Amino acid sequence: MNARPAPQFPPWPQYDDTERAGLIRALEQGQWWRMGGDEVDSFEREFAEHHGAAHALAVTNGTHALELALQCLGAGPGTEVIVPAFTFISSSQAAQRLGAVAVPVDVDPDTYNLDPAATEAAITPRTKVIMPVHMAGLMADMDALAKLSADTGVTLLQDAAHAHGARWQGKRVGELGTVAAFSFQNGKLMTAGEGGAVLFPESELYETAFLRHSCGRPRDDRRYFHRIAGSNLRLNEFSAAVLRAQLRRLDEQVALRDERWTLLSRLLGAVDGVIPQGGDVRADRNSHYMAMFRVPGIGEDNRNALVDRLVAAGLPAFAAFRAIYRTDAFWEIGAPDETPEAVAERCPNADAISADGVWLHHRVLLADEEAVHATAEIIAEAVAAG
Ligand SMILES: *Cc1c(COP(=O)(O)O)cnc(C)c1O
Repeated sequence: MNARPAPQFPPWPQYDDTERAGLIRALEQGQWWRMGGDEVDSFEREFAEHHGAAHALAVTNGTHALELALQCLGAGPGTEVIVPAFTFISSSQAAQRLGAVAVPVDVDPDTYNLDPAATEAAITPRTKVIMPVHMAGLMADMDALAKLSADTGVTLLQDAAHAHGARWQGKRVGELGTVAAFSFQNGKLMTAGEGGAVLFPESELYETAFLRHSCGRPRDDRRYFHRIAGSNLRLNEFSAAVLRAQLRRLDEQVALRDERWTLLSRLLGAVDGVIPQGGDVRADRNSHYMAMFRVPGIGEDNRNALVDRLVAAGLPAFAAFRAIYRTDAFWEIGAPDETPEAVAERCPNADAISADGVWLHHRVLLADEEAVHATAEIIAEAVAAG
């Protein structure tokens, strides 16, 4: 294993003269905030169009995108928000920051996405929002969740932080009739280092969100008429200029990652003890934010040692997200009236994945086929060595 040269993966983030030109364009506008410049407005139009949504609102980051979306959908004190137990902590923290209770619900052991049956069982009269996360770019079961939403009147909010350009049965994220939140943090599939966006299917929510993201102040206000409560979540012009350039590269990169994942998941599926993240034929465009796999039964300590071996062999490997209820942060505010043990007991899949899951950075899926073969071989050897 030590004799093998480390496979070569492309860098991330990527940029070229398009980003460079965008930054200069933003600079030379002379106005560097959205109320004076054109970059944020243009990016919002382009991003909305690309995802089939009526409106997009650019914001400071993905966590704020979720907070703003949740606030506009009525989450707050006295309400509950259903989130996957296996996700990045922003999904639950956004709800908790608003004073709502975040209720973790178990995920499917194969797709790692919100389990619709477990979601249904967790709905109470206080449930305001169900937040599916499209894990690693694989769309959650939007048919079952849409039906559940229609039957119960509980709104869906897509946490699409991994799902730029993804589709469900041919429909883009913005065409599924729900609000959706995106992140443009450094590792995400389009990035300006930080940044976020919210897609809206209709104008009224969008208008409210615009006010809330700009201290409650209408676009043309000159007299400080703050209409509703809000904060400053505005994206700046430089970030938007970079994101406009990043968006142009998205589809090509999604297609390449998909091709590479087809190969890598086949190779990993043949490795003893390894189960790659499953798919869903209805999730017909997976953006592949991470290459994920499980080593069932390995246990957390051995999984961590496995990740160390992968890193030593040159792979950008990481331990899977810790189940949110296994963090101290989760229990500080807005936690359900349950013990961590009780939550763990009703979320066995999230619990298992967080102990046996491994993910690789998506730049592995932007490499050539030879590097993908080398990646699978390194994983096979590292698993066998454990
Ligand atoms: C990255 C991420 C976020 C938050 O995005 P930031 O821009 O980092 O605040 C939210 N949800 C999920 C699932 C994420 O992976």
